[in-house]
Amino acid sequence: MTLIETFAQQLDAMEERALLRQRRVVDSGCGAVMEVDGRRLLTFCSNDYLGLAAEPALVAAAREGAQRYGVGAGASQMISGYHAPHQALEERLAEFVGMPRALCFSSGYLANIGIVTALVAPGDGVFSDQLNHASLIDGVRLSGADRHVYPHLDMVELAAQLAASRAARKLVVSDAVFSMDGDLAPLPELLALCEQHDAMLLIDDAHGFGVLGPQGRGAVAQFGLASPRILYMGTLGKAAGVAGAFVAGADAVIEWLLQSARTYIFETGAPPLLAHATLTAIDLIERGDLRRQRLQRLIAQLRPGLQGLRWTLGDSATPIQPLLIGSNEDALAVGAALLEQGIWAPVIRPPTVAPGTARLRISLSAAHTPEQLDRLIDAIRGLV
Ligand code: PMP
Repeated sequence: MTLIETFAQQLDAMEERALLRQRRVVDSGCGAVMEVDGRRLLTFCSNDYLGLAAEPALVAAAREGAQRYGVGAGASQMISGYHAPHQALEERLAEFVGMPRALCFSSGYLANIGIVTALVAPGDGVFSDQLNHASLIDGVRLSGADRHVYPHLDMVELAAQLAASRAARKLVVSDAVFSMDGDLAPLPELLALCEQHDAMLLIDDAHGFGVLGPQGRGAVAQFGLASPRILYMGTLGKAAGVAGAFVAGADAVIEWLLQSARTYIFETGAPPLLAHATLTAIDLIERGDLRRQRLQRLIAQLRPGLQGLRWTLGDSATPIQPLLIGSNEDALAVGAALLEQGIWAPVIRPPTVAPGTARLRISLSAAHTPEQLDRLIDAIRGLV
């Protein structure tokens, strides 16, 4: 077999296990209804929880940013790619989440990899929830620190792991809202354990920023927590509707990340027009109570609507609502049957989720109407 044929063979094996993924071409903006492969589909796929991705005020801000700053940043931020809107956005984000200082990255994936590898190294210990996002997992692996994975949300096991560790530096990492389940990490308990065992706490609030807490200030604000041990990571391509990510925390820690996070130092700065647009997005999040109320009403409509089926809805109070189906083949069949009716809800399979837990990951947005949600509920109920 040639080298190239080995890849073809791996792909065949994936196909046999119904694991091949397929992209669809979207020829419209992100919204409740999208133009997909030439069809208009009602969609429940995006993380655009507040419906900001196609918001005219953000489009206008992006256009204004492009007129003022052009398109590309031209260099890494350490060289000449750090523009006035980048600085203004960092200050705005720190103030918004109530922490001393913030640093932006061009994506959440790069942020997590850069943060974890800057904070810990061989000889240190990282304690990571089993269902954490791939970017945290990859950061932990790349850091070379000792890895302790605790069962999902299991604070007893985490406490035991922390107590047994002799690591020089300890770092606990957790999603705040778990991306494929929609459930919330017990942040107060996590912080208490970090205090007890002198550990840092990195919270990935990709799915909570903009949605949870007063004015959408995120999961840490929702629990009313404040501590220099907390590093708060939020992404800007989900509820904020734009792109990128940030980390906020104690001044010395943020300065350390600025000086040492390789995914920050060695990448070209994000386009300044995006930072300019994101400043408007943060204003919209802050004034977005109506959008968040609409979202809560949609969650309250969906959950009873999907009870009593042979598939179970995961225990989630967030806009991520997983309908657990089981086998890859069954989940794909449900997704395909919905598509036939003009509804697109993503099917999530291993390795993103554990084998045997393939699911529809229904995500709700303030851009959905109650009537559109009824269409989804009726369509799913009609399949059983
Ligand atoms: N963390 C979590 C929990 C996520 O769900 C995601 C995106 N899927 C990321 C980090 C990565 O963020 P980004 O898309 O900005 O790279």
